[in-house]
Amino acid sequence: MWLVAKLAGQDPAIAKLAFYEFGGFLNERLITCVAHPGFTVIALWGLQRGGIRLVFGIAGAMILHFLANFPIFLMNIDFGGLGKPTWSAILMVWLICWGVGSALLLGVMHAGIERIVHLMMTAKVKCPECGELYRQPLLGGNFGVWRYEPCSACRKWHWISLKDIQ
Ligand SMILES: [Zn+2]
Repeated sequence: MWLVAKLAGQDPAIAKLAFYEFGGFLNERLITCVAHPGFTVIALWGLQRGGIRLVFGIAGAMILHFLANFPIFLMNIDFGGLGKPTWSAILMVWLICWGVGSALLLGVMHAGIERIVHLMMTAKVKCPECGELYRQPLLGGNFGVWRYEPCSACRKWHWISLKDIQ
């Protein structure tokens, strides 16, 4: 990050940009914060089990990291002559997929696939105010492991966390 900031500061065209014009860079850094733990958990899976799985875990983490970064190389050589704007869009979608995939992988490694599928498909929330069980609405705000959403029974908005999900 420090190196990138130093290099950006040396380029007059980039140095004159306002902070909010670095949104794409900020998004990429945030996705990196999720993707790298995803790679690391694969290596740790191998380290924990040892033997040939150690090799698969470490090699798997390295291969996945390479695959995540490979489109950056393709964009820099303008593979297929798509142009930088098209490659930038492809790269952003690609990175979001890696971020979502890593978040799912971390959830599965932590809680198991059955619990994750249950949380995503059939889980109900116990309202902290009226005590009714309700399906989570699409309308709501996600803040890490917390969510601000309305109860479909009493219509009151409240904060819920994983402990409120049945
Ligand atoms: Zn309620």
